[in-house]
Amino acid sequence: MREPMKQEPKIGATPPVIIVGAGHAGVAVAAGLRARGWEGGILLLDAEKETPYERPPLSKELLKDGAPDESAVLRKEKFYQDKGIDRLPGVTADSIDRQNRRVLLSNGSQPAYHRLVIATGSRARPLTVPGAGLPGVQSLRTRADALELKRLLVRGTRVAIIGAGYIGLEVAAAAAARDCQVTVLEFQDRVMSRVTSAPVSRHFERLHGQHGVRFVFGAAVTAIEGDGRAERVITADGTVFHADVVLAGIGVMPNQELAADAGLECRDGILVDGDGRTSDPAVYAAGDVTRFTSPTDGASQRLECIQNALAQADRVAAHITGQDAAAPEIPWFWTVQHGVRLQTAGVRHPDDDVIVRGDPATGKFSVVYLRDGRLAAADTIANLADFRPARKLIAQGTRIDPTLAADPGIPLTNAILNDPTPADPTPADAALAAARI
Ligand code: NAP
Repeated sequence: MREPMKQEPKIGATPPVIIVGAGHAGVAVAAGLRARGWEGGILLLDAEKETPYERPPLSKELLKDGAPDESAVLRKEKFYQDKGIDRLPGVTADSIDRQNRRVLLSNGSQPAYHRLVIATGSRARPLTVPGAGLPGVQSLRTRADALELKRLLVRGTRVAIIGAGYIGLEVAAAAAARDCQVTVLEFQDRVMSRVTSAPVSRHFERLHGQHGVRFVFGAAVTAIEGDGRAERVITADGTVFHADVVLAGIGVMPNQELAADAGLECRDGILVDGDGRTSDPAVYAAGDVTRFTSPTDGASQRLECIQNALAQADRVAAHITGQDAAAPEIPWFWTVQHGVRLQTAGVRHPDDDVIVRGDPATGKFSVVYLRDGRLAAADTIANLADFRPARKLIAQGTRIDPTLAADPGIPLTNAILNDPTPADPTPADAALAAARI
């Protein structure tokens, strides 16, 4: 149990908690503060003008032919009103005066804060090759981006997608479903190489191939050309790809400038501790914009997923209100492409041992990742039955028998290795032990 929070001045005299950013993390901090009994003011700055919305549908359902242009909101407007959350649409934070605990806003005001929470998220990494600014070259981050893309994805359109990550592949599936001609250009030699292993990549490459999506690997885009709008994508070997629409899905960058300019420690993300505190105890951060030490394996990481945004938001709300937060969770991720769901638990490392459970040819299988003999991560492909047990076993740092784990007929929970002479504690053991204190 932590020391209770130092007694603060009476609420009436206490400035609000100011939250910069109204994505999944920012909205969850606001909701979490109220749920945990914070009675002071909450100012939620939202760079966008519309009610904060869900992002996962932007690269999936929203792009479908005939799908409504509205995407689900995170909370209805009434929620903000009922909970006394003062949401400022279209207002951004320009700078932070940490000494006087004030934020300079784009509307000219300079409100004081009791605690500041930076939840500014990330932005699409810009494509920087010549011609990247031509009309018809798109990235996908906001609802407005998605609606523009949807307008362009008409039958027969030639779509060149740069990057075979989540965005590139989800859009490739949506575009193929709308009878577009889709070519994906990727630096690496396989899809989703950042997040998964070769067997899973190969499975999704085959799946996309069956839907007419063409891949070009080892492709370094050097220019985009066209007369007034994008018409051709050129790669380093001189190949020309004709395209009517070019989508760059080449990763994201944390929106950390506000924090860095205020002197907060940043290193490809705002550095935070397990409670979301930055290097200034009055300033917190949550979501995509943060970098922190993994409680499971001690690695420094920046996690781009909703689960992390929500979990960090809860820890921030708990710390601000002087309460205990839930125990750290194993991160998880999902994507759906051509109707096939890939759901991932934990964060795989490239040198983990890779064990395939089941036959990918059946369309339903899992891949589990062992680190020092312990279950560290798992991918389930149309196979959610493995997902929940995998998360539990990963959280427990369970040693797994690789032969048993490879047999899909044996539940993962029966593949536990009963090792009478356990090895020396791993970093995961130490981190888990610390997390249990
Ligand atoms: P991503 O998952 O990082 O994938 C980007 C891919 O593009 C990587 O394979 C990258 O290779 C490659 N790449 C980078 N520069 C390139 C270039 N110039 N030419 C060709 N390929 C290049 O990022 P993303 O797909 O853009 O997604 C953006 C964000 O949205 C991420 O935070 C992602 O988690 C999130 N998102 C998540 C979901 C989901 O969870 N289902 C869905 C959509 C979006 P290198 O690794 O070599 O750089």
